[in-house]
Amino acid sequence: MADYPPAFQELVSALRQLPSVGARSAERLALFLVDEPPEVAGRIVQALAAAKQRIIPCPDCGFYSEGEEELCPICRDPGRDRGLWCLVEQPNEIVKFEKAAGYRGLYHVLGGKLSPLDGIGPEELQVTPLLKRIGLEKPREIILALGTDVEGETTALYLAPLLKERGVQVSRLATGLPAGGGLEFADSVTLGYALAGRREI
Ligand code: ZN
Repeated sequence: MADYPPAFQELVSALRQLPSVGARSAERLALFLVDEPPEVAGRIVQALAAAKQRIIPCPDCGFYSEGEEELCPICRDPGRDRGLWCLVEQPNEIVKFEKAAGYRGLYHVLGGKLSPLDGIGPEELQVTPLLKRIGLEKPREIILALGTDVEGETTALYLAPLLKERGVQVSRLATGLPAGGGLEFADSVTLGYALAGRREI
């Protein structure tokens, strides 16, 4: 039984390493790349090589930084409130906050959440770099933006006293109802959070 040539099979197996790419998608992508003019694959190869070579984590906050500029654009921005930090799990969440607008503080990427069932304890979390940065830069407030799942709650409960004993005011994001929605689709847990986080108008 004939199959694709070995070079094609290697391309398929390389593409399968990408997240959300199964066997059929990998085959489709490989066929596309092989059939298109060489410039198409060339551009992808070049962009990938450049990104892998130039993108590094910001040594201060953990967001993405490029090339010789060691700090990321957010940490380099002199217009930012350096006393206010937002603690997130992953760097891509920073982009969401930036798009939401209105936030002018700095960030810190924790790189994970406490999850004892998956073997992620305090030692596996990047807590030491966070505490070291707090000691150096002494922020006045840190917003814990770690989500309301069990892992996010556990991590927030673990971190809050550590931050408070360093003189940092700790806050968390309000949880509540989606903008523009009625109450009929809200679950009871969300409604409970919304009630607890109510504010005067
Ligand atoms: Zn940074």
